[in-house]
Amino acid sequence: MLRALFGLIGLVVAAIAAFWISALGTIGNVSVSNLGPPLDAAPSAWTEVLARAPVVKLTGFVTGWVEAGPEILIDPNDPRTPANLKRKLWVPSISYLLEHPTRGRVLLDTGLRSGDCAYGTEPLYWVPCRNSAGSDVVSRLGARGLGVQDISWIVMSHFHGDHASGLENLLRLGAPKIATTREEIEDVQSVWRPVLGYEAEMLGRDMTVVTINSRLQSMPAVGQAADFFGDGSLWLIPTPGHTRGEMSMLVNTRPRPTLLTFDAAHLAADFELGIAPGATVDKSAAQASIARLHALADAIPNVNVIYGHEPAQWTGVSSCELGR
Ligand SMILES: [Zn+2]
Repeated sequence: MLRALFGLIGLVVAAIAAFWISALGTIGNVSVSNLGPPLDAAPSAWTEVLARAPVVKLTGFVTGWVEAGPEILIDPNDPRTPANLKRKLWVPSISYLLEHPTRGRVLLDTGLRSGDCAYGTEPLYWVPCRNSAGSDVVSRLGARGLGVQDISWIVMSHFHGDHASGLENLLRLGAPKIATTREEIEDVQSVWRPVLGYEAEMLGRDMTVVTINSRLQSMPAVGQAADFFGDGSLWLIPTPGHTRGEMSMLVNTRPRPTLLTFDAAHLAADFELGIAPGATVDKSAAQASIARLHALADAIPNVNVIYGHEPAQWTGVSSCELGR
């Protein structure tokens, strides 16, 4: 009897181990260096910083739509969560092209891949997805006469599938450097990757990663932020909570600067009501991140806030110039 019980336990353990090894998969080689220290350690008010920084052009591409529920988008257990958001929604997955007058072109996230874009690690989760021919970021660049060789950096807010799905096709065609936080790339490489929402199948290519933590400096209103080029045109703002290494970004566009919350606030309601996303590794950190982004938005008159996945900002839109 006891022998049969131990046999059964052994079978269950072996089945779990086999599932875990298959879900973990293997990712490409990752080489990591850092961006170097801040170049201007005495920042002034945000309005002054942005007034003297180069102005960049920013274009958003809707690479497709994914279906997600409040367990991902907005905390369903928060009493302030509106009833109409306590259901599954189709939400856009965006990649941005930033064009700097002297430092070249940068992609901010990579959006969804071409072809079949559904993904997940069953039975943990599965994400239904819709896209169309030409909506992926490689096609978007091609339509502008650009190739991957024209991209100098890919800045990743985080590596979940709706942001990193397009990465493999980009890295197949070239080798832009990838900028992200140290925490994010640590978690991508961790054995806990399957439950943290990272898909090995999207991360099979070798990656040259530059972590931005060394460049962080204390800035007004928002706390720590990294001046990516050292000229004030692109600010990377750690906003942990949804993932440990999540980043939001502030871009010096005109006529209005653009604040991209990425998944610190999936929807407008997350940001406006101060409600954490449904999917977090640290809910109180997620709420603190939203509060910091609010303080930043309050410090920059007329800033245009673009949320991670707000359908109302992208319905009927294929691509959008967010300023230059
Ligand atoms: Zn997302």
